[in-house]
Amino acid sequence: KVVTRFAPSPTGFLHIGGARTALFNWLYARHHGGKYLLRIEDTDRARSTEPAIAAIFDGLGWLGLEGDDEPTFQFARSDRHAAVAHELLEKGAAYRCYLTPEELAERRTQAQAERRTFRIDSEWRDADPATWPSDAPFVVRIKAPREGETTIEDEVQGKVTVANSELDDFVLLRSDGTPTYMLAVVVDDHDMGVTHVIRGDDHLNNAFRQIVILEAMGWPVPVYAHVPMILGADGAKLSKRHGAVGVDAYRDEMGLLPEAVFNYLLRLGWGHGDREEITREEAIELFDLSGVGKSPSRFDIKKLLNLNGHYIREADDARLASLVAPLIGPEADEALLTEAMPQLKLRAKDLHELAAGAAFLFKQRPLSLDEKAAALITDDARDLLARISARLHRISDWTVATLESNLKAYAEEQGLGLGKLAQPMRAALTGTTTSPGIFDVLALLGRDEALARLDAQAS
Ligand code: GLU
Repeated sequence: KVVTRFAPSPTGFLHIGGARTALFNWLYARHHGGKYLLRIEDTDRARSTEPAIAAIFDGLGWLGLEGDDEPTFQFARSDRHAAVAHELLEKGAAYRCYLTPEELAERRTQAQAERRTFRIDSEWRDADPATWPSDAPFVVRIKAPREGETTIEDEVQGKVTVANSELDDFVLLRSDGTPTYMLAVVVDDHDMGVTHVIRGDDHLNNAFRQIVILEAMGWPVPVYAHVPMILGADGAKLSKRHGAVGVDAYRDEMGLLPEAVFNYLLRLGWGHGDREEITREEAIELFDLSGVGKSPSRFDIKKLLNLNGHYIREADDARLASLVAPLIGPEADEALLTEAMPQLKLRAKDLHELAAGAAFLFKQRPLSLDEKAAALITDDARDLLARISARLHRISDWTVATLESNLKAYAEEQGLGLGKLAQPMRAALTGTTTSPGIFDVLALLGRDEALARLDAQAS
C-alpha cells in the first residue's frame, strides 16, 4: 500500500514550493488508494515557531490537503531517533567520534591549503569500543561505505549514481545527545511506513546519506521522486519579489480561490497533454510521477491571476458573495451580492477586485464620485440626467428588460448613442466609471435608490 508524506519544517510560511510538494504527495496517495501523512519537522528548536505550524495547517486546510491521520511531530520522537543511533552503535555500523570541532576545522583548512577534497577520516572509525573514553564529549557518526557506488532510480530524475567515496561519515547524534535531521527523517519515514518520498530536489543529496542509514538498519529503501524546484518567471530563484509569499497571502492579500491555486500548482511541473482545467477528481485519476518534468518550472503570477478570474466566473454566486461580503464591510448584504454576482464576476480577477466592483451597491448617499466619474458630470450631462430621470420616474416595472427597451428608445429619439447616456448615468449611479451593464446597475440598486442617485447629479 502506498504511503506518502509531506514533511515541512515550520520555520517560515507555507510557501508555494511546499504547497506543491504537499499536493503531489496527496495526489499520488489518492491515485493509488494509499495514505498521505503530515509530519512537522520541528527539530530546529531555535527556528521552529507556533505561528509557522499554524500557517502550515491553515494553508493545507484551505487547499484541502490535510493529512489522513493526526500529524506527527518530529521533535517529540527524539528518544526514538537516539535509540536507533544506539542500535547502530551496537551493530558496529556507527561509532563514537571524539574529534573536537577545532581538530576538524584544522583538518579542513589543511585540506584546502593542499587543494584536496576534505573528508572526515576519523581515526575513531575503526577504534575498538573498549578504548572509547567515558568522560570526553563525542558525536555518533555513521560508518558510511567507502568503496563502490550508490544508485537511486528516481521517479523524476531517473538513474542517479554517486561514488560512495563521496559520502562522509555524517553525524547521527550530536555531542549533547540530540539526533540530527538526517537520522530523524529516516527513522520517521520508516516508522510511519512511508513507501514513496516525494520532495524537492534540494534533498536529492540527502537521499544518498539516508540510504546509508536505511541499509545499516536493514530497512527497505523507499521510492524517491525529487521534484525540480520552482523558479521565478525570470528564471531566477524564487523569492519575495516574484510574489513567492506564503499561501495565506494568496488567499488574504491576493484574493485567490483555493481551486485556482490548486489547479495552478498542479500544472506547475506536472502536465497532462495541454489540458488546462483539471478538477480535483480528474487530477486524482490522471496524476502520476511520470508526468512530472525534469526541468524547473517557472512561477508566473499573471497566469495564476488569469486562472483565478476564470475560476471566479465558474464559482457559485452565493459562495462568492459570502467571500466578498467581509471584504466590503458590515454594510454588505449577501443576498443582494448573490443577485448581482452573475454580472459582477464577469470582470474580476480576484476577490478584492470583485469587492471593489460590488461596493457601489452599498454606498451611502450623497455618493462621492471618483475623479474620472466626477469629470463626466458636465453641465450638459446634468441636463441629460434630469431628462433621463424624468422619464425613468414614469416606469414602475423596474426590470432589466423594461429599463433597457425604454432607455434604448430614448437614446434613439434623441439621436444619441447608448454610450452617451450610459456614461454619466454610471458616474451618478456608482461613483465610478466601471461597473456592470447600466440596466443591471439600475435594476440591482432598485427604483428608489437609483432615482435618488440620478437626481443628486441632475440639474
Ligand atoms: N523538512 C524538510 C523541508 O522542509 C523536508 C524533508 C523531506 O521531505 O525529507 O525541506
